[in-house]
Amino acid sequence: MTDVFEKIVSLSKRRGFIFQSSEVYGGLAATYDYGPLGVELKRNVMQRWWNAMVYRHDNVAGLDAAILMHPTVWKASGHVDAFNDPMIDDKVSKVRYRADQLIEGYIDRLRKKGKDGEADRVYQALVDALNAEDQAKALYDIIMSEEIKSPDSGMFDWTEVRQFNLMFATKLGALAGADSTVYLRPETAQGIFVNFHNVRETARMAVPFGIAQIGKAFRNEIVARQFIFRMREFEQMEMQYFVKPGAQKEAFEEWRAKRMQWHLDNGIRPSKLRWHEHEKLAHYADAAFDVQYEFPIGWQEVEGIHSRTDFDLKGHQEHSGKNMQYFDPQTNDRYIPYVVETSAGLDRTVLMLLCEAYREEEVEGETRVVLKFHPSIAPVKAGIFPLVKKDGMPEVAHAIEADLRQHFLTEYDEKGAVGRRYRRMDEVGTPYCVTVDGETLENGTVTVRERDSMQQVRIDKSQVATWIFDRMRAWTPGE
Ligand code: ATP
Repeated sequence: MTDVFEKIVSLSKRRGFIFQSSEVYGGLAATYDYGPLGVELKRNVMQRWWNAMVYRHDNVAGLDAAILMHPTVWKASGHVDAFNDPMIDDKVSKVRYRADQLIEGYIDRLRKKGKDGEADRVYQALVDALNAEDQAKALYDIIMSEEIKSPDSGMFDWTEVRQFNLMFATKLGALAGADSTVYLRPETAQGIFVNFHNVRETARMAVPFGIAQIGKAFRNEIVARQFIFRMREFEQMEMQYFVKPGAQKEAFEEWRAKRMQWHLDNGIRPSKLRWHEHEKLAHYADAAFDVQYEFPIGWQEVEGIHSRTDFDLKGHQEHSGKNMQYFDPQTNDRYIPYVVETSAGLDRTVLMLLCEAYREEEVEGETRVVLKFHPSIAPVKAGIFPLVKKDGMPEVAHAIEADLRQHFLTEYDEKGAVGRRYRRMDEVGTPYCVTVDGETLENGTVTVRERDSMQQVRIDKSQVATWIFDRMRAWTPGE
């Protein structure tokens, strides 16, 4: 892990954003709990996504489907047969790797050494292997022919590459027979597909229209070592947009543009975002692009935009025997719609926002750690401080706080020097602080201070909420 990444992990724990799950028992690998500030951050992100997708599109409706679904769903979707990752073990250290990621790491190291020609050659071999009939063998052959050593032990002593299904299985009911196996959903999308007609009919939608959903997904990831970047239980924000066959290219470009804009609107700098085209298209997809962010651990995916054709609806039609066609009353056409999907990781978006916001700045000879979140995303919107704990200042401060808490979360702090209280708020990304002092008691004005510029002005205490809302609307990310 990089230095900055470690600092973010440590700040997240220390200030109550993210904790290791079941920490008192030594933790459970790749599962995390969101603390008081983390849950606010996450909810703000969810709300911004929901507003952008559902409220701003009159042809997108929301859904909240169950995590457990009929087991045949995962047959129809292809997950039972093909939701695999190729794994390989270092026999010396017993550390397990995802074979494709091991090769990607090797390619990165070649590039860092300036061996671009070799890197290109191995990259092409990787693309071919990912598309090969016997993917496991093809990946194994690359590791052997390139003599890729284990990053962990430095040894070259590997097992074969084996395919590993990522779905968590469990049993339904008391009679645990072979046919009672159910799965924790590995993606939220299938809940949307099986509800295609339910939502279309009840929300009175006509193609093109979308169904949006936020919810948990579970994957028994082979390698999960990078904090909330890759978890075994995580949350997705997905939308499936149903279009007439032939219209998918246009819809794909439309949603690609909209999704990139959403990340920019959250305050991510354009230089930190890029598009990445999939090396390997899923057999049913006709286009797939990822939004990548430059994390401290390198460029990585945060969201995928996929053109999935009619694969899923067709699969459910075949396996359920129910007609999944759409009847177009305007043209009298009948068809199974094509689907453009936008699939973002909620936790990964949270991690991106933490990485993007984290700054260390020199202020008057001291290092100030500040999270420069977009104010709408910041967990706490305002810190409220009485200058001293007497003379009626706490009472006035509490009254201001009660007023602001009708709109958003605030934090009251009366301990220590005001400078220190500012620093505590900076460290969790609180964009505004309000201080009640002697002058407040005389003329009703308070000092308000902005996190980013650290500038302070005096305004009337009755104007604090309005001032904050105006500032929030006008906020733009700095450098
Ligand atoms: P990867 O190649 O990283 O395994 P993927 O291509 O399988 O990811 P998708 O199935 O397209 O990912 O899932 C959509 C989004 O869900 C991803 O862009 C990512 O943000 C998020 N996501 C997927 N797997 C995880 C995970 N294990 N932990 C956290 N977020 C995840």
